[in-house]
Amino acid sequence: MTQNIKHPRPDKKALDTLEFDTQAVHAGNTTDSAGGAIRTPIVMANSYGLPDDPSEMDWSDTDTLAYTRNSGFNQICLQTKLTALERGEDSAVFATGVAALHAVFFTLLKTGDHVVVGDVTYEAVWRLMAELLPEKYGIETTFVDMGDLDAVRAAMRPNTKLVHTEVIANPTTKVADVAAIARIAHDGGALLSIDSTFTPPPFFRPLELGADLVEHSLTKYINGHGDAMGGAVIGSRELIGRIKSEALVDVGGTISPFNAWLIMRGSVTLPLRLRQHLSTAEQVASFLESDPRVKFIHYPGLSSHPQHEVAVRQFAGRGFGAMMAFAVDGEPATQNRFVANLRVITSAVSLGHDETLIVHVAGEARGGSERYPEIFQQYGHLRLSIGLEDPRDLIADLQAALDATFPE
Ligand SMILES: *Cc1c(COP(=O)(O)O)cnc(C)c1O
Repeated sequence: MTQNIKHPRPDKKALDTLEFDTQAVHAGNTTDSAGGAIRTPIVMANSYGLPDDPSEMDWSDTDTLAYTRNSGFNQICLQTKLTALERGEDSAVFATGVAALHAVFFTLLKTGDHVVVGDVTYEAVWRLMAELLPEKYGIETTFVDMGDLDAVRAAMRPNTKLVHTEVIANPTTKVADVAAIARIAHDGGALLSIDSTFTPPPFFRPLELGADLVEHSLTKYINGHGDAMGGAVIGSRELIGRIKSEALVDVGGTISPFNAWLIMRGSVTLPLRLRQHLSTAEQVASFLESDPRVKFIHYPGLSSHPQHEVAVRQFAGRGFGAMMAFAVDGEPATQNRFVANLRVITSAVSLGHDETLIVHVAGEARGGSERYPEIFQQYGHLRLSIGLEDPRDLIADLQAALDATFPE
């Protein structure tokens, strides 16, 4: 906590001793020094008062409140919370998840460096790694199947500076073995960056398995209510300090104080929400797998999933995520008809919201869907983000839409 936030509650020492659910409620809270309000206020200021003698000020310092692009009151409260929840040393928050990911790549990579990146990855990361970073900055990238550790090992080069993957990949749900990939990255002298958007804490904590940096789209589960965008990167004090100094102060993808406050509020219920998301997802996935009108389903909790064994070991009984990819038996037009027949589940992008969301990702994904399993290419797929509704209503909605799409 920065020196000029006077009333952090609880203080850092007490915070570290608390259980996850308690930290989700209390971490990063402050008492308002003006009126004593116990709710952290939204501070929309873009500047803060300077000391009597500013001659000693470090104008790019990100720990002192001076200018909101570098550091703001609500940013710092949110960072304190995310650092605690991921068990990191420090964190940096950004306007979006993509801004946080870009900040990591921008800070750690330079011309001539090589990156190993998962072949199934968020679309913006795919474009950054396949086109923008190589073409603009001469950064070399190799896309690799993170489910194949020999392939990851073989992709490493003497100039590999970074390995980047998602734990459960968007959109196919391919699972990466984080501990094994961390060993390969570190043996090759590279850092491991993990996009953990699909696997928020306490469900999963990549830093504990050897990751050097963890990124989240806060837009998704951590906010959880679909009403704010944000991104974060969590890691060591040294790496986060570099990321703030280069990619926040001098690139400026700063989060709005209002969005930081909304995410802070949404994250209070993260552990409660996750319990519901994870348990409902397992029920919905078994329902979909059991219905013959569903052509395929990829969900890490099903024994039919290609990395099911890794998922069982890695997630150690805590769940398998709440994202799944499937297709009904038919053409793209049939997938669209099925979605149109849903009455509770909403057709929209994004994920990790309170409401269940579905999106029909048609064949031609950016970067080509040859990176996806064969069956995805044949049918296209529906990406389903399980929300907080009663599982009985979700299953009934899917069942009714299947009945309407495939009349007897
Ligand atoms: C949504 C998402 C992002 C990007 O986050 P934004 O907040 O939309 O910028 C990055 N990675 C994954 C896995 C995502 O699902």
